Amino acid sequence: MQKIAGKIIQEGLAIGPVFVRKDNALKAEKKRIKDVDAELKRLELAKDQAKAQLQNLYEKAAKEMGESAASVFEMHQMLLEDEGYLDSVRDRIRTDLLDAGYAVSAVGNRIAQMLAGKGDEYLADRAADIREISQRLIQNLAGREAEDFAFGPPSVIVADDFTPGELVQMDREKILAIVTIHGSVYSHTAILARMMNIPALTGVLVNLDELRTGMTAVVDGFQGQVVLEPSEEFCQRIKKKMQQEREEFELLQAFKGKADITLDGRKLLVCANIRSVEDVKSALENDAGGIGLFRSEFLYLGRTDFPTEEEQFQAYRQAAQAMEGKPVVIRTLDIGADKQADFFHLEKENNPALGYRAIRICLRQPEIFQVQLRALLRASVFGSLSILYPMITSVKEIFQIREIVEKTARELKQAQVPYQIPKQGIMIETPAAVMISDELASLVDFFSIGTNDLTQYTLAMDRQNEKLADFYDPRHKAILRMIQMTVDNAHRAGIRVGICGELGADTELTEEFVRMGVDELSVPPSMILRVRKRIREIGENVDN
Ligand code: PEP
Ligand code: MG
Repeated sequence: MQKIAGKIIQEGLAIGPVFVRKDNALKAEKKRIKDVDAELKRLELAKDQAKAQLQNLYEKAAKEMGESAASVFEMHQMLLEDEGYLDSVRDRIRTDLLDAGYAVSAVGNRIAQMLAGKGDEYLADRAADIREISQRLIQNLAGREAEDFAFGPPSVIVADDFTPGELVQMDREKILAIVTIHGSVYSHTAILARMMNIPALTGVLVNLDELRTGMTAVVDGFQGQVVLEPSEEFCQRIKKKMQQEREEFELLQAFKGKADITLDGRKLLVCANIRSVEDVKSALENDAGGIGLFRSEFLYLGRTDFPTEEEQFQAYRQAAQAMEGKPVVIRTLDIGADKQADFFHLEKENNPALGYRAIRICLRQPEIFQVQLRALLRASVFGSLSILYPMITSVKEIFQIREIVEKTARELKQAQVPYQIPKQGIMIETPAAVMISDELASLVDFFSIGTNDLTQYTLAMDRQNEKLADFYDPRHKAILRMIQMTVDNAHRAGIRVGICGELGADTELTEEFVRMGVDELSVPPSMILRVRKRIREIGENVDN
């Protein structure tokens, strides 16, 4: 039995035979040609064929997983029209009299290596895109059909990496889990794996040559590990866990469409925490009452530059429209501490969790903040959006935010861009915010309690430090009292208050939260129905 750790792309459990997928890329041979025009024509035909294949993949993915999942194939079609790329290939054909397949391979490799060599996860993903379109062209030029992944029994697919196209082409029924050596949790392939709800890990350092197709593997997408040739006892334990998961899943389906209401008639709202527009799908599948926390900083991570106003506007608008009038709370960027993006050029700090992060960056660098605010104010026209500000510690910050929001609104008005100022709330995730929650409540439209940070700052314990696991207690009495204090102050001012930290999904505390008067619990999509079930068991049945 061998255990190997990896990064979690998608949670879930799987057990079954391994299918080792070795690199099946077609290598283009170096051949000289005589007829340049004929070769250029072949290239053109291969390109048209590739575009048609990508259109088919786009349609298949859009039908099975929705437009946003399919967009990668649209992007590949655009890459195939990139004149810089095509001109370089044509140059090699004309100048070096190279066969079109070899010219594509040489140019594709050069660009991909250049991108991959920058040590940036986002650019590495773009390198994978270039490799995929080049491979498609090479296959078409060689007259080879795209590989059909018609492997035997449903399997745990282990590979160096996958392209999004390869993943969509596979028969979903045959994939128990995906394990890759390379790849990133931000890649298109990772996004697709999440959308397809396939347990998936990346960064798993297995040696493909030592693996055998057919050997047994367990993929634990909760713990982030692969277990090769597991013992019988381990297999039994995992199978039992999977059975429990299945039974629970079946039972929970009955709670779809039901209200989040206690037996004695107290109404709550159970919402979803999401990181991207793609996550809206799982929020809807789990019948979320709304989006309680859209962690917008994920739009900024895993890339080389700031997302533009337009990119952000599209993401927020899509989320608002997809939720069809249900509330969508978008938190402004909470970058810094454990969430770093190079292009912010943040200085190294001794205590990053206590440092320059979240609203502090936005207030000091309003030019960054305003781009996001413009996108949010514009997207508000399209649904029931609210803005949530993170890491608030003072009343002064609220006034500063207000000034910037008003300035942004004035500019949009002047430019005659349609906008709306939505409801605005704040995260209560610092002890300071709790202690002045009476004053803060009169200045904002709602509170959302971030128990993750509130726990780390109240207990003075780094939430990331594994060594503190025995000490770190999110159910600490101090936290529960702070939640009560925040709820009381919110209600005195007549505003709503929710919990969006992980504690909100702790079903052993649901009854206590109800008793405290919490109005909303925002939890990971997979926890929505569990929390709803718990809420509906609480209190005396008034009909009895
Ligand atoms: C929190 O701190 O509880 C929270 C919801 O925010 P994050 O986990 O993103 O810091
Ligand atoms: Mg937080």
